[in-house]
Parts: sequence; C-alpha cells; structure tokens
Amino acid sequence: MTTVLVTGGCGFIGSNFIRHLLQSDPGVHVVNFDCLTYAGNLANLADTTGHPRYKFIKGDITDRDAVRAAIGAGVTDVINFAAESHVDRSILDSGPFVHTNIIGTQILLDAAREFKVTKYVQVSTDEVYGSLGPTGAFTEQTPLDPSSPYSASKTGADLLVKAYHHTFGMPAVITRCSNNYGPYQFPEKLIPLFVTNLMQDIPVPVYGDGMQIRDWIHVLDHCTGVEAAWRKGRAGEVYNFGGRCEKPNLELTHLLIDLLGKPRTLIRYVQDRPGHDRRYAIDCTKAEQELGWTRRVTFEQGLKETIDWYKANAEWVANIRNKEYLKYYEKQYGQI
Ligand code: NAD
Repeated sequence: MTTVLVTGGCGFIGSNFIRHLLQSDPGVHVVNFDCLTYAGNLANLADTTGHPRYKFIKGDITDRDAVRAAIGAGVTDVINFAAESHVDRSILDSGPFVHTNIIGTQILLDAAREFKVTKYVQVSTDEVYGSLGPTGAFTEQTPLDPSSPYSASKTGADLLVKAYHHTFGMPAVITRCSNNYGPYQFPEKLIPLFVTNLMQDIPVPVYGDGMQIRDWIHVLDHCTGVEAAWRKGRAGEVYNFGGRCEKPNLELTHLLIDLLGKPRTLIRYVQDRPGHDRRYAIDCTKAEQELGWTRRVTFEQGLKETIDWYKANAEWVANIRNKEYLKYYEKQYGQI
C-alpha cells in the first residue's frame, strides 16, 4: 500500500495537491502533517474531511518525535510542502524560515532515512536561482544564488536533500517551480492579495516601478509536476516547473483591475521590497522530456477561474482577512 506523508497539506499548494491525489489515484492513502501556522487552514480541505484514505495529523516538522511517529506508522513516501513561504515575512524576521525550512527538512530527511521511505520529494522554488537579466531562463544547472532569507532557507534545504542523496543514497528528488496562482492561496501573495483588495475597492500596493517579471503557473499544473517527479523522477535529480508565462507585475495588476472592472486609480506605488529579484523565468524542458509533464491550464482561463473562486468564497476570504492579517498588512503596506 502506498501511504504518502504530505507535509504542509493545509497550505495553498499542499491542499490542492492532496485533493488532486485523492481524486486521481484510488490506490493512494494520504497523511497530511501540518502544524497550522497562520498560512495553514483546515478549511482548505473541508471537502476532504472524513475521506476514507485521508488522515490529518497536527504536527510540526521541526518536532523530531512527532515526525518519527508519523513516518514510522507505515508511511512509504514523503512529499515536503511545509515551509514558511512568504518573502516579505522573511525580511521582517528570518528566524522561523531558518527553523522550519532548514531544520524541519533535516528532521524529515532523518526520519525518511530511518524508516527507509521509497521516495522523498522536496518541493522547492525557482527563487533559489536568484534573479535573471532581461534574457535567458533558469535550468537545473543554473548556480544557486538566493537573494532573500526565504530563498536562502529553501536553498539550504535543497542542499541538505542533495547531501542526503549523495551520502546516504536517499531516494530523493527536488522540484523547483515558479510563481503559483489558483484557489486557496493565502491573500498575502500578489494575485489573491490584489483580487481580494479590489473586490472591496481597496487600493493595491505595487512594489517599486512594478516592472519585476514573474513566470506564472496554475497550482494544478504544479501539482501534476510534483506528482510526476514523485512517480517517475530519478533519485538525486532536480526538476524545474514553470508556466512559460512571463509577466511584469504592473501588466498583471492592470489585467486584474480590468477583469474585476475596477479603475486603475486603485494602484498605489509603494517602496520596493529590499533586494527584490528583477526577473524569473524557468526552462522546464527536462520535466517535459523526462517526466512527460505538460501544462494544461492557460493563464487566461486559470486567472478568470481563480478570480471567480475568490468571489464565490467570500466567507473563506473574510475568515482570513481578520485581525492578525490586518496587523501584518498595516506593518507591510500601511493602513488599509
Ligand atoms: P503556504 O504558506 O500556503 O503553506 C505552507 C503550509 O506549511 C501551511 O499549511 C503551514 O501551516 C505549513 N507549515 C509551516 N511550517 C510548518 C511546520 N514547521 N510544520 C508543519 N507544517 C508547517 O505555502 P505554499 O504557497 O502552499 O507553498 C508550499 C511549498 O511550495 C513551500 O515549500 C514553498 O516554498 C513552495 N513553493 C511555493 C510557490 C508559490 O508560488 N506559492 C512556488 C514554488 C515553490
């Protein structure tokens, strides 16, 4: 029996991944291991509660005993989504990033090794490669050159995974993906932040000149990529995933404003993020050729569906945009 421990399964990508896996593979059991930080939300998997092949454990990946107990209870594979994931928060305080993203990964790797898991997947990011000039794209050979405390902590984790493969023969793969969008994304990230602000006619904060370029991929395309890397990826290998959809933040902002039928006067330029990477672009040829992975969701369709999802889930949004969220928002951008 295949039992996958999915860490961080109550977050944005992890919850989409669990839903996808349970629906697409009747032979797989999923254990969701998540400590429910501000970004973890049981409501993201409300439709999965009670599923016969799904179990939730409230646990912290930096808690060695809890991790050993979870993996030791029959887990065959580990897919690590759990992380502190927001660059701006890592600039305010890098401590939780180093703790969760590096120490947590080490503890997971130790337990995966002890209980001889079949496959370990580290879900990483294109941000480990740093920033690009106006041309070119990151390949799996691009040197690691992270710019933010977030990406530095993810790089540290990637290096540990590589070292565990090299030293102990750990059957591990690393996936590195570009910016995700889709349903259930915490509204601190650009697309859900702007959509949920615009829905209430609240101005949207655009960093600097807004000409930072990001490559957008729908979360379900990322999920099928992680699944393909888990099922077919060769141990010790890295696989890049991206949307081949580069857009300057300002162009995306205009698009969101237009799709929501709001005026461009809602744009507020704010001081740029310190050390802000200028451009990301991903070459995902290796994943396409070796894993047979392809993107299915076009940006136009995916973005429209995402906006519709946030409109249809006003209660989910309201439950997040509460006191704690507003405190963070004011610290970051000033009063709403
Ligand atoms: P998220 O912030 O929405 O979710 C993170 C989840 O991890 C939350 O449920 C949280 O409760 C859980 N978590 C945090 N610390 C934990 C700990 N110590 N123990 C157990 N659970 C813990 O993040 P996301 O956007 O879903 O990203 C998931 C993964 O994908 C991360 O590793 C991130 O680096 C990576 N990634 C994200 C993107 C993106 O665009 N969002 C792109 C590439 C890679």
